[in-house]
Amino acid sequence: MKKVSEKLELKRELDRLFKSMDFVSEKFSEDKKISKRDHQLYWNIYQQLGVAWEFLGLQCRHWDGYKKIKDKKEACRICGKIKSTDEHYYLLPKTGLKKIGKKSMPNSKKTFKNKSQAKIVSDTIEFHGAVINADVHNSYKSRMLNHTFNIAAERIITVKERGIECSIDQHLIHLKLNTSNKMIGKKKYGNFPWELKRQNLKNFPVIFEFDEKYKMLGLTILT
Ligand SMILES: [Zn+2]
Repeated sequence: MKKVSEKLELKRELDRLFKSMDFVSEKFSEDKKISKRDHQLYWNIYQQLGVAWEFLGLQCRHWDGYKKIKDKKEACRICGKIKSTDEHYYLLPKTGLKKIGKKSMPNSKKTFKNKSQAKIVSDTIEFHGAVINADVHNSYKSRMLNHTFNIAAERIITVKERGIECSIDQHLIHLKLNTSNKMIGKKKYGNFPWELKRQNLKNFPVIFEFDEKYKMLGLTILT
């Protein structure tokens, strides 16, 4: 029910806006007697109404679909947005779940010539102090020091908080701790826990979580 009233309310507001736009555009395009100053004023009002149109349009979910217009384009029956053109803003509810974009995955088996052609999404949001980045791309060729190699298609989500970085892709979950305040050595190693000596293992405040069959459920790092 909410959707219907939301739609009707928006339709009403857009109708009023379109009438105002028509009125102003007639003024400055047809009224030859108006002064240059007034002409400029009407022009400015028209531009400002255009901004209002863009912002009102953000509320539109294009409920009634699109109608064909000239140049083989399609426009929303309610807000007039041209299908598949970019929107420059997001409108988010202050309370409740905020949703931006859809979950996208690599969508081609092809290896693209470069990173920008392979890109599907590369977007970052700062959310209450935490930074989240989504990087989804198809496979592409990369050149480094005269060598060309293929970068695999992937979807990586990275969260940054308190200098800690957690990235998740299809194959692994990587956690980088904040080492900026710690004296750390120059070399970097990586081992499975069973490869380390017991006394060295004590440097890792990690709790493994598992079920009665020792199936891994998660882990906790105490910082
Ligand atoms: Zn619309």
